[in-house]
Amino acid sequence: MKDIYPWQKNDLARLQELRKRPPHGLLFKGTKGIGKFDLAMNFAQSLLCQHPDGAGFACGKCPSCHWFEQESHPDFRLLQPEVLSTEGEETEDSRPASARKPSKLISVDQVRGLAGFIGMSAHQGGMRVVVIHPAETMNANAANALLKSLEEPPPGLLFILVSHKPQQLLPTILSRCLSFALPAPDAASATRWLKEQGVKNPAEALAASGFAPLQAVQLDEQMGSEEREKLLRAVRQPAGLDVFALAEALQKTEQVLVVQWLQQWSYDLNAMKLAGRLRYHPGEEAAIRKLVEPVAALNLARLQNLLKTAKRESQHTLNPKLFFESLLFAYRQLMLE
Ligand SMILES: [Zn+2]
Repeated sequence: MKDIYPWQKNDLARLQELRKRPPHGLLFKGTKGIGKFDLAMNFAQSLLCQHPDGAGFACGKCPSCHWFEQESHPDFRLLQPEVLSTEGEETEDSRPASARKPSKLISVDQVRGLAGFIGMSAHQGGMRVVVIHPAETMNANAANALLKSLEEPPPGLLFILVSHKPQQLLPTILSRCLSFALPAPDAASATRWLKEQGVKNPAEALAASGFAPLQAVQLDEQMGSEEREKLLRAVRQPAGLDVFALAEALQKTEQVLVVQWLQQWSYDLNAMKLAGRLRYHPGEEAAIRKLVEPVAALNLARLQNLLKTAKRESQHTLNPKLFFESLLFAYRQLMLE
């Protein structure tokens, strides 16, 4: 069974209230990386469980829990983009080059595929649950197909939509779901949890993730990466920055990741210049203050804009080395001008 995170105890208590009279549609919304999906799955399992405990947790032992954990519960469906279902099954390298990339969207066919399920009655005579995650990845056709089911919901069927971009959902869908906001965790319990996960720099990773602990775990892995260290060492000294050597050293690193590191760096240069504080690189106040002192605020703003554009372009550059070169040249120029 998926455990809930320590910061979700209140959320779970609020959900127990809903058990008494469950809505037809429930929208879990909140920042990315705080565990909304895991909570939705946990709640779904507990609704289907034959012997939930007093606190509302699934027992983990009944046949229903067993099916759920085997991903074969007849009264449960999970709708998510193909890319999430295939995660971990194959690495990028083992897939033949000719193979189609798994979709990042929930297709209309996936939603239509629910028709049979929606038309049936519950196998176990209890509730039925559909989790849709992330709900904003439904394209317009998929969303419209779902709308039909939300408009005429069969009894005992609950749709749980999980989204960190609810503003991208159709208003007609939003209006048919009970909104359930999940707050970001408090820093203390998130830091404690990150420590338990073996994260080396919990406070730093949490800040860098925008207080989203699940993202922080991933960030922590990237933070220790040799490429990031190399990049950050080099950008600290714009005058001595060897653009060609650095671009070459980075060319195997995912472009969007490098842009993200530079964006965090640029964010902190701006934050230091304008407000005298840092977000992503705590403990480097002195060095960064000295670095930005001679640089015009306007240039730092330009750098941020440039990186914003680069982030979009990073998805479809053909030559990473050239892409990095032009970015690093622009950086050096803006920092030295
Ligand atoms: Zn159970």
